Amino acid sequence: MCTEDKKCAVCGGSLIHEERDRTCRYTKKTRNKHEVYSVQYHQPGLWCTTCGEGYIKGDDQKVHNAVFTTLRSKVEGVLSPTEIQCIRENLGLSKRKASLLIGGGHNAFQKYETGEVMPSKSTSSLIRLLGARPELISVLTSLQQPQQDKHIHLPNHQGDVKIQTVSA
Ligand SMILES: [Zn+2]
Repeated sequence: MCTEDKKCAVCGGSLIHEERDRTCRYTKKTRNKHEVYSVQYHQPGLWCTTCGEGYIKGDDQKVHNAVFTTLRSKVEGVLSPTEIQCIRENLGLSKRKASLLIGGGHNAFQKYETGEVMPSKSTSSLIRLLGARPELISVLTSLQQPQQDKHIHLPNHQGDVKIQTVSA
């Protein structure tokens, strides 16, 4: 606990930095209904000792963001940012390598691990699967090798055709 020089913008009262019990809410929206989920947590911040106004910035804001993204992922049934980071690190993959392997754009894991983007259920399932069976990484990698044979068989009896490279 430490007091700061800054004054409350609302009433001019003095501010104190400490943790307070707060409620974080997440609303799950489905076609017919909205369900609100909540968790209690300790929110650090600057609080006015006179009017109770809170000022939550920087690292304090990160605490709220981490609680919110964890709650959201639990409600939606996908891996949380910290779970994704943990699995990726156990697999020995960089964020970039993991993004190339699993897809979603070259910054995908950066976004998942900061909570900026929530992974889809299928992406989350694939990460879980690789986490449980790391040997599948080599299987997935070999499946993603470019096809040497550039002939494909088209449906509807159109026969075999050669894929051509068309310059942009
Ligand atoms: Zn105040």
